[in-house]
Amino acid sequence: MPDATPSLPNLLLASSEIDRDAAARAGHGFVRGLLQDASTKVLEVFGDRTALDGRALGWRAPSAADLDWYENEGVVLYLGRAGESARLALLRPADDSREDLLTLRHVALDLDHDDLAALTTAVALSHWHATHGHCPRCGGATLPRQAGWVRYCPNDGSSHFPRTDPAVIMAVVHPGEGRDDERILLARGPRWKGPHRSVLAGFVEPGESFEAAVARETFEESGVVVDDVRYLGNQPWPFPASLMVGFVATARTTALTPEDGEIEEIGWYSRADVDRGLAEGTLRLPGRISIARSLIEHWYGAELPDGVEGGSA
Ligand SMILES: [Zn+2]
Repeated sequence: MPDATPSLPNLLLASSEIDRDAAARAGHGFVRGLLQDASTKVLEVFGDRTALDGRALGWRAPSAADLDWYENEGVVLYLGRAGESARLALLRPADDSREDLLTLRHVALDLDHDDLAALTTAVALSHWHATHGHCPRCGGATLPRQAGWVRYCPNDGSSHFPRTDPAVIMAVVHPGEGRDDERILLARGPRWKGPHRSVLAGFVEPGESFEAAVARETFEESGVVVDDVRYLGNQPWPFPASLMVGFVATARTTALTPEDGEIEEIGWYSRADVDRGLAEGTLRLPGRISIARSLIEHWYGAELPDGVEGGSA
């Protein structure tokens, strides 16, 4: 495996150590064979939720019922190989009656790297399958193929592949008169209330580079002009289908014009402002599974505490 270590530390969802073994997916009878092999490990995912077994995912051996599910066009996703075993995810519909089911956000800090990578991929594909039951060309029903990595339209023979949408997320930093005067731009959108603040982010548009998206989104959301855009790291963010690509950018202006409907609070924070806000409960940072948290801590120069009210995504 190539070294996939990201340049930002603590990107929990980028810590993939599963061998995806993509070449095996299209093999005839491949999934059927895995479902009849007692060494295979199976995880059931219901919508975006799954059950834990202690502090691990609830892996189990395959059953005859799993094979029936697969033979009846239920989605069985081949995640790849981890350790000595092949890993499959059975992607079931959401089940609101099951109170034992937890989301990736709930369990991320409990899981090891292999389990975290497996669940991140399974949740992303679960959402994709649930929303791509019909062919974009002809509207006919599509069927899962290639071990859950393709949906196929039997009406016109077209194949459809899971998408992941690139989004930029950026620490916009004004250098000021030196380190004590340096400030980071933190904001709150309408989804969050109270002291929650994070860095700016937005989707990359067709025909646009990452760096241009950083400059455009920053200007649209805050009115700040940036340059010197530098890449720091990335991680998947399957809520539902993003790949968050992280940057630091230098602010050349400081006047703030928050975008209507997108930004409710915005401001510049020195390191001392961050310390004070966390201590007084007037500032809450994004959760530890987010790249936003990593970007803020990268700028700050150390891991930050969760503040007086405890952490929250
Ligand atoms: Zn079709």
